Amino acid sequence: MRTRSMNGVMAGSIGDISAFSFFSNKNIAAGEGGMVVTNRADLAERVRPLRSHGMTTLTWDRHKGHAGSYDVVNPGYNYRLDELHAALGRAQLKKLDRNNQRRRDLLGLYREAVGSLGGWIMPFAEATEYSSGHLMVVVAPNPNIRESAVHALRQSGIQSSMHYPCVADFTAFAGSSHRDDLEVTRQFTRRAITLPLYPTLNPDRINSIVDVLRTV
Ligand SMILES: *Cc1c(COP(=O)(O)O)cnc(C)c1O
Repeated sequence: MRTRSMNGVMAGSIGDISAFSFFSNKNIAAGEGGMVVTNRADLAERVRPLRSHGMTTLTWDRHKGHAGSYDVVNPGYNYRLDELHAALGRAQLKKLDRNNQRRRDLLGLYREAVGSLGGWIMPFAEATEYSSGHLMVVVAPNPNIRESAVHALRQSGIQSSMHYPCVADFTAFAGSSHRDDLEVTRQFTRRAITLPLYPTLNPDRINSIVDVLRTV
């Protein structure tokens, strides 16, 4: 398998432990669930039982009748990725390189198209070499144009979204002392739009999507 890395380091291999999401909008989409990776045996040993109520046996053992009883070593969770979703994920993993390359190719087309607009910015436009191409974000010239663009896209049946809202504005973080000094973040969130990007997106669609931005 051909793999991509940044300075020879693969995503997920930088720290002691990493988490991947396989939620439906991710580069590997298994519907739900995720994966923890680590090269530390002690951490693996601690994380494994947390998946399943802190129990010493997992679903498969109990299902196969291999485990008559079990111990609970820590209070844990029900974070089991089931066999069916794991099978989906493994099939997706085989396609990951090809799909990420398609995403990068589509980002290249977006870069050209967005470059032909005046005043719109595509952040990290030059970074397609090592990008996984997860999201296609453009920054509108100003918040009003962003609102008009979202409206015009919707009129044309094109879905758009927002990555990411300002975390400090979420209710859960209302107590953050940084709320008042995030002027640049707020500028960004008022102007950013996430455009369609997925491996099977027809390249011809990109010009028509960017043409909608041109009309506003
Ligand atoms: C992917 C993603 C999620 C979902 O992650 P899970 O751990 O799979 O629930 C939530 N928030 C953001 C910002 C994400 O990018």
